[in-house]
Amino acid sequence: KFNVSLPAMGNDELGELSIAIMKLATDLDRIKKERNEFLASVSHELGTPLTYLIGYLKVAMREDLTELERNHYLQIIAEESNRMKDLVKNLMDLAKMDEMTFTVTKSDFSAKQFMEDIHQLVYPSFKLKKIELKLICKEDFKIHADPLRLEQIALNLLDNALKYSDELTTVTLEVSKEKQCTVISVTDEGIGIPLNEMELIFEKLYRIEKSRSRTFGGSGLGLAIVKELVEAHDGTIDVKSVVGGGSTFTVKI
Ligand code: ADP
Repeated sequence: KFNVSLPAMGNDELGELSIAIMKLATDLDRIKKERNEFLASVSHELGTPLTYLIGYLKVAMREDLTELERNHYLQIIAEESNRMKDLVKNLMDLAKMDEMTFTVTKSDFSAKQFMEDIHQLVYPSFKLKKIELKLICKEDFKIHADPLRLEQIALNLLDNALKYSDELTTVTLEVSKEKQCTVISVTDEGIGIPLNEMELIFEKLYRIEKSRSRTFGGSGLGLAIVKELVEAHDGTIDVKSVVGGGSTFTVKI
């Protein structure tokens, strides 16, 4: 807790200084509170799967299990461990982005090539879930950005589109040029996002329904990472969505 006692207030410099200090103290208090809340969320996010893991491990070690049953539990343990590994990796990425030393290294690269690279990486998961992936790049142009980080932006948005859509729907990734900007949009026909959640989904560890995460996977960090990466490019991200009708995420850099 920061306690700052104010000297006699007035229009003098000392008065202004104490107002500035008070503001600083309030800001520090808020940052401290946010950090504690974030730590509590992280502990919860890691603690819950660990509890499940220990439970499944105990069951998997039972001697009366058939080979099939044991494999089933080991499979769950492997999946849950992978989820925790992803969560820790995402947390590390975000921590790095918060540091002053985080920079983007921009270069010029072909939009068509960028699309092809993305396609190579994601088409197996789309095929597996029977979701059509449509790529649109009407004409090739040079993108000026950090190629790896732009790829991560597109991959995270596609990952969500895939996660929150049913099979036999279509996901569209479009890259285009608008004046000096590169526009990347990802459109799905999935479950959509309620209006009052649209701002919140970009916050760290925020998920619309926490209980859904066990079905959908995900840690609530994907969009926070996207937002940081977009901002590091001095870009903007925007979402339009209809509950039950799908969502479009548009990044402009
Ligand atoms: P997660 O790892 O949980 O997907 P994100 O930060 O990527 O975390 O997204 C935050 C939340 O926003 C998700 O939990 C989900 O509820 C919602 N969301 C993100 N993308 C979509 C989408 N394309 N369709 C519907 N909901 C989405």
